Amino acid sequence: MKISSIELIPVMLPYKAPVSDAWGLYDSVRYSIVRVTGESGLKGYGEVSLAWFGGVHDLCREAQREWVPRLIGLDTSQITYINSVLDECCTFSRRSLLVKAGIEMAVWDLLGRERGLAVYDMLGGRVRNRIALTGAVAMLPPEEMVAQAREAVDAGYRELKVKVGLEEKKDLDTVSRIRAAVPDDIRLRVDANMAWKDRKTARRMMDALYGYGVEIVEQPLDYRDLEGMAWLRNNTPCRILIDEGIWDWRDAARHVLAGAADLFHVYICEAGGIQGARRIFDVGGAFGTGCTIGSMPEAVVGACAAAHVAAAMPNLSVYPSDIRGFTVFAEDVATSAMKVRNGCLELPEGPGLGFEMDEEKLEALRADRS
Ligand SMILES: [Mg+2]
Repeated sequence: MKISSIELIPVMLPYKAPVSDAWGLYDSVRYSIVRVTGESGLKGYGEVSLAWFGGVHDLCREAQREWVPRLIGLDTSQITYINSVLDECCTFSRRSLLVKAGIEMAVWDLLGRERGLAVYDMLGGRVRNRIALTGAVAMLPPEEMVAQAREAVDAGYRELKVKVGLEEKKDLDTVSRIRAAVPDDIRLRVDANMAWKDRKTARRMMDALYGYGVEIVEQPLDYRDLEGMAWLRNNTPCRILIDEGIWDWRDAARHVLAGAADLFHVYICEAGGIQGARRIFDVGGAFGTGCTIGSMPEAVVGACAAAHVAAAMPNLSVYPSDIRGFTVFAEDVATSAMKVRNGCLELPEGPGLGFEMDEEKLEALRADRS
């Protein structure tokens, strides 16, 4: 079906409680919802998500003006061609990949609704029915982090992801307290969000954390320091999961060539959409690098896109993914059967990306009207 309109609608989504990491504290996000309307009037939706740097509203305004005219009249069945047109639009800025992803997933959603197929079926079908997730432990005072860890274990999570990177002594102390507070068979990973300033600091921290059973360390160093990451892989027992360093498949290929990654953390938004994410999985598959899925955190629409990719990729890692961000929002524009139960994500149901858009809620959460 031909595309007759594309609207990038700015929204403000409030968190239930402030979210923290090594970079700061946030109480809401400025995302955009992409509404693609076909010539029959049928609609598909995507999400443009970026939790940092003031969000994506400026980027989306520019895309509405400059990109959308190039896409009107294209057919929803030409997703590969639509990706090529969007790639030309994105050439000079990596952040544009976020906008590309929102538009691309909306086209998948519309195509699926038009054909009566779930997106994972269009990707070759489900290879799993649920996705193992990490339980989140945010950067908080130590006793609150221990309490969050206990709650996550009680909720059924088998691996905890602990935010670290501000103070070495506090981080080690907190992780040791979490280790003592949860059963031995619960795995621990930490996310440093690039906070360790040099490779020797990172090695010292990682050796100590390994002693507390931390197997995976997420983005220990600056995203540009591929040599440092490769050195850590050879000089510490921990596995290195690359998050900030990998946006698209080219980044993934560079990390493979540098020997810098044990695992890729794939974001549909950073990869420029569903096809872009699949290409990272293909790079990982070719070189034996595991792939897990990250969380911006996306709200329901973006999380559904992540869930469909996770369901359909044969080489999703046995290590858990992070598709639980949609649970942190106080309000959302869409609802879905997708839910987190016993530490696993249960997949969305229905055609397209498998959510119900609430148009009234979308109007209510619009950020360009008051
Ligand atoms: Mg991370």
